[in-house]
Amino acid sequence: TGAAKDAAGGRLIMATNAEFPPYEYHDGDAVVGIDAEIAKAIADELGMELEIEDIAFDSIIPEIVSGKADMGLAGMTVTEDRMQSVDFSNTYAKASQKIIVTEDSEIASPDDLKGVIVGVQLGTTGDIYVSDLEADGTTVERYNKGFEAVQALSQGKIDAVVIDGEPAKTFVAETQGLKILDESFTDEEYAIAVKKGNTELLEKINGALKTLKDNGTLDEIVAKYIKA
Ligand code: GLN
Repeated sequence: TGAAKDAAGGRLIMATNAEFPPYEYHDGDAVVGIDAEIAKAIADELGMELEIEDIAFDSIIPEIVSGKADMGLAGMTVTEDRMQSVDFSNTYAKASQKIIVTEDSEIASPDDLKGVIVGVQLGTTGDIYVSDLEADGTTVERYNKGFEAVQALSQGKIDAVVIDGEPAKTFVAETQGLKILDESFTDEEYAIAVKKGNTELLEKINGALKTLKDNGTLDEIVAKYIKA
């Protein structure tokens, strides 16, 4: 396909959804964040030019499957289900789904999500795992952007939000009256998605990731955005 040939010729197209701070978000017109910088560092390692495509989260895998994008970096959790559609690189970050509630909420643990209204971002692992609770009477409200779910929570429209820990911290810091529960809902790992069977690109990406891990670049990028 076009994109794959371009990548071989020097252009590396990354698909992402820039609504996920600190991994990817907008700074003016630019997409910045941990994933954007990791992708740039990989492109530099490979002598390629990075191009970032900002699309809906649930369009990223289709875009890779169709060959319009070469790789997906979007704080994307490795799941068995997604592995049916794409191949994943070695993982580059640990993550977890966290529960956000109002400061005065009676929800204190993952068990308490049964029977309440929970907001998630459409198509994310938060959506997938909370949807399992629908059988227990939980209502799932799906939003296009994680921050919209957090806003709905602060407006009292829903009872909790399940979302990845790092964007949870950012969104809670930007919104009054909310807190993150200590207990995680799930533990996950992020990796880079490529077209199934594109072992040439996958090996290049894994090689570049290893270099960036070994020479400290990866840690430096993360430290820039996540204060220990
Ligand atoms: N880690 C979650 C997932 O892979 C959320 C990613 C995101 O919203 N960008 O589904």
